[in-house]
Amino acid sequence: MDFTSTENQQLIAETVKRFAETHIRPSFMDWDESQHFPKELFHKMGELGLMGILVPEEYGGAGLGYFEYMTAIIEVSKVCGSIGLSLAAHNSLCTGHILQFGNEEQKRKYLPKLATGQWIGAWGLTEANTGSDAMRMQCVAKQDGDYWVINGSKNWITHGKSGEVAVVLARTGELLDSHGITAFIVERDTPGFKAGKKENKLGMRASETAEMIFEDCRIHKSQVLGNIGDGFIQSMKILDGGRISIASLSLGIAKGALEAALKYSKERQQFGKPISDFQAIGFKLADMATNIEAAELLTQQAAFLKNNGKKCTKESAFAKYYASEVCVHVATEGVQIFGGYGYTKDFPAEKYYRDSKLCTIGEGTSEIQKLVISREILK
Ligand SMILES: Cc1cc2nc3c(=O)[nH]c(=O)nc-3n(C[C@H](O)[C@H](O)[C@H](O)COP(=O)(O)OP(=O)(O)OC[C@H]3O[C@@H](n4cnc5c(N)ncnc54)[C@H](O)[C@@H]3O)c2cc1C
Repeated sequence: MDFTSTENQQLIAETVKRFAETHIRPSFMDWDESQHFPKELFHKMGELGLMGILVPEEYGGAGLGYFEYMTAIIEVSKVCGSIGLSLAAHNSLCTGHILQFGNEEQKRKYLPKLATGQWIGAWGLTEANTGSDAMRMQCVAKQDGDYWVINGSKNWITHGKSGEVAVVLARTGELLDSHGITAFIVERDTPGFKAGKKENKLGMRASETAEMIFEDCRIHKSQVLGNIGDGFIQSMKILDGGRISIASLSLGIAKGALEAALKYSKERQQFGKPISDFQAIGFKLADMATNIEAAELLTQQAAFLKNNGKKCTKESAFAKYYASEVCVHVATEGVQIFGGYGYTKDFPAEKYYRDSKLCTIGEGTSEIQKLVISREILK
């Protein structure tokens, strides 16, 4: 495995960094404060190729690999975790599911719109009473001639209100049957599909999280992704890639928090010298940097396997678990280094701190990652 950034990755890092400084940095605190989801920004990111990073060029995407994808998510998340989360969810969940499991007709219909940012995608697995235990989902789809009729709701869905299209997992078989769940592509204006409550969150406030409600929502059988009953197994594969996304999001937030703390520690004077001169602060910074480096190596390992079409369930769980816990730790230490100023909204440390916590929860909590890892190593 080669750890040096390719020319492509360096170019992407510089381009995304410039984009984030110009289009995200000036507004991210206002969006955070008002919980505004800046949809127009995602259209702009589409023009830059960021909305379909992994989508082949023939479907309107950038046709790049997981290393480039990691780079883009990291650079956006260094400035704003919310935008990083939405970008990651759009690319790896909805778009990724259609790319991986859609038939040619579905790919030609949806991928160009998603990859160019004309449409924003949502992906609905979680329900109010079934998060980690997704197999127990209650949302059902019953066949009626050439149609499937969906009833139920999905909660905590990124772009649940604003997404023009959603991949929805619904029960088509028996409870707890891993072959009893099917994935459907549902367009926003389909009768019987509406958005419910938008969550008022601790962090990631500019990333929209909302409920999706289905009431006798009729979906033509041509909108089924893959085979009937394959939805749960497809979802587990999608989450293998999704964990690389959340690990990258964690890395971006942690790197942003470290950069801010490094700068501040050199500027802030106490006892007649910069606080970075105190070994207690220097050692904190050293731990933060070491942990980030280790998390990045784990994430690169998973990305390498994914790029080569290899199974990466254990490695992506390693990366997601470790990087997200590192992210929370680094962001917490960041606030500590800023002292009282870290507790105010005048400095970025508090936002990194609030945003970081999602990383140990979304797309499988740390406890669930440990379950996945223990199952893999006990095989
Ligand atoms: C901002 C945000 C965006 C999200 N976006 C999406 C999205 O786009 N699409 C989507 O489908 N979902 C999305 N989710 C949902 C997310 O994936 C779930 O919140 C997550 O999987 C955890 O489920 P839960 O919240 O129901 O927690 P629960 O499953 O109720 O877990 C509660 C606690 O119990 C622990 N626990 C549960 N089961 C076990 C076990 N077997 N062993 C040990 N501990 C256990 C958990 O680790 C956790 O600490 C989003 C969530 C958030 C907060």
